[in-house]
Amino acid sequence: CGIVGVVGSTSTTDILLTGLKRLEYRGYDSAGIYVNDQVGHDYLVKTVGKIAKLEAALTPEVQGTVGIAHTRWATHGQPSVANAHPQFSTSKRFYLVHNGVLNNYHELIDQYLSDVKLASQTDTEVIVQLVAHFVEDEGLTTLAAFQKTLQLLDGSYAILLVDQAHPEQILVGKNKSPLLIGVGDGFNLVSSDALATFDQTENYLELRDQEMAIVQKDNVKIYDAQGVQQSRTITQIKIDH
Ligand code: GLU
Repeated sequence: CGIVGVVGSTSTTDILLTGLKRLEYRGYDSAGIYVNDQVGHDYLVKTVGKIAKLEAALTPEVQGTVGIAHTRWATHGQPSVANAHPQFSTSKRFYLVHNGVLNNYHELIDQYLSDVKLASQTDTEVIVQLVAHFVEDEGLTTLAAFQKTLQLLDGSYAILLVDQAHPEQILVGKNKSPLLIGVGDGFNLVSSDALATFDQTENYLELRDQEMAIVQKDNVKIYDAQGVQQSRTITQIKIDH
């Protein structure tokens, strides 16, 4: 339901948590956060219920320079820790948050993931397991696997993916679900609503349906569904609060 991502900031956990709180009014049943410090430590924390519960579960070492966070409004699978996002691959290499609904996840499981033991009841887990499958079993790069996965999805999605082996970036995909890239000074943001990050920047790049992006701390690249790089001008979004 709500998505926030950060790359390149030393206040990652704070920005993620503050962002989730600002999106709280939209409603949700569970929340979660994945943070990576890019020097070998990462943390996944998920709770059912209020964001205050997630906050209480965040021990002081949960800090990093890249992170993704989510408030979930369940569509597939009951509210539970296993079904909360970030969802992750069996290998625990790939972490993903998703807003939206997939129509064809049963078909995707049958076609590609019949050998995979799924850990949740969500449609979302299929996305992250597909990326892992294409990288780990078929030898694709993470970017190629992400692009291939997006092309297979039928439904609505705003997605952020972190590959533990490449924690310097967040891969982003969007179709029929809102997603904005916030341009900061020395860091970048991604969110489902500028309200989540308005105190961090007023400068945003709007993603269009079926586009994907690679977001690094001082660089954003946007591609269309065919993989052709797109240019985008900055949109100023000012929110008085
Ligand atoms: N369909 C996903 C799930 O049920 C995402 C729901 C949402 O947008 O919060 O886990």
